[in-house]
Amino acid sequence: MRPKHAIAWTNAVPEFPLRFRPILSPEVGQKLYVTVLSSRIVGVLTHFVHSRVRPCVGLEAGCEGCLAKRAKRWKGYLAVWWRLEAREAIAEITAQGGLDNKALLSASGPDLRGWQLTMWRRGRKVNGPSLAEFAPPPVGGPEVPPSFDVARQLCHIWGLDESLVDDLALPSEQ
Ligand SMILES: [Zn+2]
Repeated sequence: MRPKHAIAWTNAVPEFPLRFRPILSPEVGQKLYVTVLSSRIVGVLTHFVHSRVRPCVGLEAGCEGCLAKRAKRWKGYLAVWWRLEAREAIAEITAQGGLDNKALLSASGPDLRGWQLTMWRRGRKVNGPSLAEFAPPPVGGPEVPPSFDVARQLCHIWGLDESLVDDLALPSEQ
């Protein structure tokens, strides 16, 4: 196991400049309208620690959430085009949003590229359930921009080694 705080020195130049793409989760009273760029959703078990969503990396790897005995919660992530801001982003789908759209998001569901996703939060509480609704790609709509590697981007945001990408992806169907 790599020590937790080891610096990964490298002589290699990055393959491409990693652009910052924000993780989108609706605030109270906010509606987010995005176009899906990913073909499939990437699911991750997470903990809520230090007021942030963090991926579960397993007790053996010293997962802070597991050590603090925090519950594991499923989150799903999609590369999206944030129409209002005209930029790439990552949509965070909660377990409730996933359950509400189970058939669509399952491995046997359609290619999600071009689907229109609306996200909002139910009720007036900041921790109210975040909901998601998908609509099929509009006929004759604009061409969808290329997607990007969501798992890799999340590792970068979470400050994790990209070698954890495979460990983070859940089996597509349980
Ligand atoms: Zn954990």
